[in-house]
Amino acid sequence: MAEVALALGSNLGDSARILQGAVDALNALDGLRLRGVSAVFETDPVGGPEQPRYLNAVVVGDTDLTPLDLLEATQEVERSFHRVRDVRWGPRTLDIDILAMGELALDTERLTVPHPRAHERGFVLVPWADVDPEGIVPGCGTVIDLRDQVATEGVRPTDVRLVLGSGS
Ligand code: ATP
Ligand code: CA
Ligand code: CA
Repeated sequence: MAEVALALGSNLGDSARILQGAVDALNALDGLRLRGVSAVFETDPVGGPEQPRYLNAVVVGDTDLTPLDLLEATQEVERSFHRVRDVRWGPRTLDIDILAMGELALDTERLTVPHPRAHERGFVLVPWADVDPEGIVPGCGTVIDLRDQVATEGVRPTDVRLVLGSGS
């Protein structure tokens, strides 16, 4: 069983509903149990074409899936929300990134863990620190220290609250 942190982002469609749907779909996966969900932040897009603001959140949990099985499962959830892979860093209904899996360090063509850009992204580190103040980015430092080193002015709190489903 490994601890896992996943980043969720959406800037197309009804993003608040999509993020809640993603939490429910992830929690329903065999081999993944979510234990916490962050507040939801509205964030200015970083990189890519001009596009709407994002809603971002981070969830943490435990998994006994292999890293690749977890990637495939999260991509299946993305597809179920009609994620289309088009322009790099372009707008999307749902993006799920694997931020970290315990102490794992993995670098393959399909999957790099920890996520290679997590440690420099305010839109990841702010919600991650919210849901897991003890979090660590293996090889990089603590989530809180990293958050304090990056620009976060484009990351704003919202009233949107995600809930971990009861019993489903
Ligand atoms: P970024 O990775 O910079 O956040 P993105 O999320 O827009 O960009 P995607 O188009 O969603 O990029 O993903 C491209 C590929 O990245 C995926 O098909 C997947 O194989 C690969 N990938 C590598 N490492 C990870 C990871 N830790 N989590 C999710 N996908 C990953
Ligand atoms: Ca991403
Ligand atoms: Ca992604």
